[in-house]
Amino acid sequence: MQSVRDHIGAMHAVNDKLCPFCGKPNGCQAGDPNCWCNFEPVPKELRELVPADKVMKACICRACVLEYKADPEAYVGRHSRGGADKGG
Ligand SMILES: [Zn+2]
Repeated sequence: MQSVRDHIGAMHAVNDKLCPFCGKPNGCQAGDPNCWCNFEPVPKELRELVPADKVMKACICRACVLEYKADPEAYVGRHSRGGADKGG
């Protein structure tokens, strides 16, 4: 008897198809060389904002990458983890 096994997204505790920031589908085609993330590099500073439990598991969506690039400081202010510690 044959069984069809669904190999898509199996065994991931975190839904790696959802953006860790806005919770919307990130549209990332893992392993696909044509995925947008190969053409729109995610800034290191933005990656560092990803919650520790989702690092290397969930991709950031394109909308959030563009939003970050448009106004990095405002974006970091909205999504920074830990306390907002702006000494000035
Ligand atoms: Zn997003």
